[in-house]
Amino acid sequence: MRLAERMSRLGTETAFEVLARAKALEAQGREIIHLEIGEPDFDTPAHIKAAAVRALDEGWTHYTPAAGIPALREAIADYIRRTRGIPVGPEHVVVVPGGKPIMFFAILALVEEGDEVIYPNPGFPIYESMIRFVGARPVPLRLRMENEFRVDVEELARLITPRTRMLILNSPANPTGGVLTREDLEAIAELCLKHDLVVLSDEIYSRILYEGEHISIASFPGMLERTIILDGFSKTYAMTGWRLGYGVMPEPLAEAVTRLMINSNSCTAAFTQIAGIAALTGPQDDVDRMVAAFRERREVMVEGLNRLPGFRCLKPKGAFYAFPNIEGTGMSSRELASYLLEEAGVAVLSGTAFGEYGEGFLRLSFANSIENIQKALERIEKALQRLP
Ligand code: PLP
Repeated sequence: MRLAERMSRLGTETAFEVLARAKALEAQGREIIHLEIGEPDFDTPAHIKAAAVRALDEGWTHYTPAAGIPALREAIADYIRRTRGIPVGPEHVVVVPGGKPIMFFAILALVEEGDEVIYPNPGFPIYESMIRFVGARPVPLRLRMENEFRVDVEELARLITPRTRMLILNSPANPTGGVLTREDLEAIAELCLKHDLVVLSDEIYSRILYEGEHISIASFPGMLERTIILDGFSKTYAMTGWRLGYGVMPEPLAEAVTRLMINSNSCTAAFTQIAGIAALTGPQDDVDRMVAAFRERREVMVEGLNRLPGFRCLKPKGAFYAFPNIEGTGMSSRELASYLLEEAGVAVLSGTAFGEYGEGFLRLSFANSIENIQKALERIEKALQRLP
């Protein structure tokens, strides 16, 4: 069947392909340690699941308003006000199935063909895919290990042209674990105001933070009117399979994104939205417990990686990924990732799954047990010793 031309511009997420390859090896009887997947290994907290079951029993099985159940939009607005210190209301919130659709909808609604969009590289691969899909030009903003994977503001300034429409930020970041400082954000906000840019601020890891406090670029003067905050329940509450996320944005854009929802999904599943209210308004101890566990695993992972010959790894400040530089091994990222899968039975992602500037790096998720992380490190060490 002949596909529309635009499909040739749509990318994918390598994590799903590596997972399929790892599963195929498992089907042959191999035991694989999964460090390729970007999701918490914890179960969704019990009170959130109970709220969903109750919601089903109470008849939350029908369409909801396209932008979300009013009480959930209110709870999200309240949460964003508390965590970001910005004056938003439910009219700014659109509830969608996961955080990912906000990327798609914001870019569809704001970016014209031929516009330029600056995006972090290495970064979440869907940004570039979406930019290309709408016929815009992706302009990579290189994140460097020497700069703790923060944004080099002077480099960013050099990338801006009269055609630049949007800047995508992701802090805390996947795959690098980098976190933008208040000073970084202030300087970036100044550039956005000067050049009239809109910002898609992917804050999905806002609660998976190991030091300090999460700061949103939307909290700087003049930025609320030009920022779309993407956040959701997948990472914070271990709810990746529920598909529940949201965007917080200026009201005219919220209306446009709601129209995109009407044209695509109608609404997000009703009972999951009720569970979302329970997540935001209920006890947060489970979140604290999960972050404490990630912090402990981060130590084990980073220490272990830095002991491997040819590996150099920074301690990520947020999210749950280690992103070591592996140039010292003499192998390319892809070669090493497939060698580790085949020879060590450890599934990891090549840095190039996150853009060309990911060459020389691997991504290993530490959303896994300490036992598995230690076992994976031992296996990797042995596999590296077998290299000629
Ligand atoms: N943004 C980033 C940076 C991510 O890493 C992910 C998931 O891996 C998402 C967004 C998407 O999250 P969701 O599963 O809620 O769509």
